Amino acid sequence: MSASPIRRRVTVLGSTGSVGCSTLDLMAQAEAAGSAAFEVEALTGGANVGRLVEQALRWRPGVAVIADERLIEDLRDALRGTGIEAAAGDEAVVEAASRPADFRMAAIVGAAGLRSTWAAASGAGVLALANKESLVCCGPQLLARVKANGGCLVPVDSEHSAIFQVFPADRPESVAKLVLTASGGPFRTTPLDRMRAITPAQAVAHPNWSMGAKISVDSATMANKGLETIEAAYLFDMPGDRIDVVVHPESIIHSMVEYVDGSTLAQMGPPDMKTPIACALSWPGRLAWPAPKLDLPALGRLTFEAPDLDRFQALSLARQALAAGGWAPTIFNAANEMAAYAFLDRRLGFLNIAAVVAETLERASGTEIDAGVGDACDMALAVDRRARELAEAVIVDLAVAA
Ligand code: NAD
Ligand code: MG
Repeated sequence: MSASPIRRRVTVLGSTGSVGCSTLDLMAQAEAAGSAAFEVEALTGGANVGRLVEQALRWRPGVAVIADERLIEDLRDALRGTGIEAAAGDEAVVEAASRPADFRMAAIVGAAGLRSTWAAASGAGVLALANKESLVCCGPQLLARVKANGGCLVPVDSEHSAIFQVFPADRPESVAKLVLTASGGPFRTTPLDRMRAITPAQAVAHPNWSMGAKISVDSATMANKGLETIEAAYLFDMPGDRIDVVVHPESIIHSMVEYVDGSTLAQMGPPDMKTPIACALSWPGRLAWPAPKLDLPALGRLTFEAPDLDRFQALSLARQALAAGGWAPTIFNAANEMAAYAFLDRRLGFLNIAAVVAETLERASGTEIDAGVGDACDMALAVDRRARELAEAVIVDLAVAA
């Protein structure tokens, strides 16, 4: 007996990026398989107006938004006569995020996604969270907001999706610890003396996952696993000392929950973001789509090793920020984002990414960062702005010293 198709009204924030495109591809595959039917409320992109237009003509959303206001005429021209509203600018992205929908995918990269994720948290339905930086910036407040508005946050980051699927939400006391797996990125075995010369092209070439540039750099420095440790601490209300990281180069086990009785539950699957996206799209049901499946005999073996904290200092820095509490994770995120982009712009060496984060956290601890007034999102953004100024000064100092 075939199940009736799931029906969802969907908004995708960051539809032109890696996760956004995977979301729309998956939706098309599920519709073609007859297991789902979607309507699209809103699509938003940053600056890739060509891809946004293509997506809008395919999915016929109520509104298509391009964040870069200079591109509004291009968008309007391409959508003229289609009945699809065209809009531009940060406010329009936030407005799109606030529209009623059953499923909102938050897939903008970086703290730039915070205001729209915050707006998306004001509605009922599922908030599918890929934009981990917004959780790191003001996680407890974001989770409280989703709950207060009758929504449900389903993580899309593969590790957190894995834990979400095996975590006993009704018996959290039965959990001993969380184990996040990490691929180790492209430099897992690169000696420290060769890491200094790593180029942006080498850093974005991830061995297992196809992702946007910023998260690829984060994976290469393992700052990504640091952000994910903070993300897991907030999502599952777990102290940092009960969250382990284990390197698992095959990226087949996406993470694990260890129970107090010694049992460990793991979630497995091929390294494809469409699987955690599918989980969020139909939660608590399961979406049938032509998913890639595991071939265990072909895989042969799964391997594990401890992370090398000397070569990947960002991981320890994230743990320190989590333990310090307050706005320290927000500052960690801002400094890491500034340093990752400075590296991509060739203004900073690879090993100096962690150095910028460490020095920014140090300078911030010596100054009173004023979060101002407003809601938690406004305050996190004020801290983010100030931390970026501090990080930029550190980047300039390191460039002068080099
Ligand atoms: P990406 O760079 O491929 O896409 C980012 C999207 O955000 C694009 O649509 C871009 O146009 C939009 N955007 C960028 N700056 C913007 C701005 N200022 N205003 C509005 N929109 C803007 O990134 P991605 O790899 O898809 O990652 C998206 C998020 O998902 C990140 O937070 C990342 O950490 C998380 N994530 C990604 C993956 C992955 O496999 N790609 C896995 C886990 C988590
Ligand atoms: Mg991840």
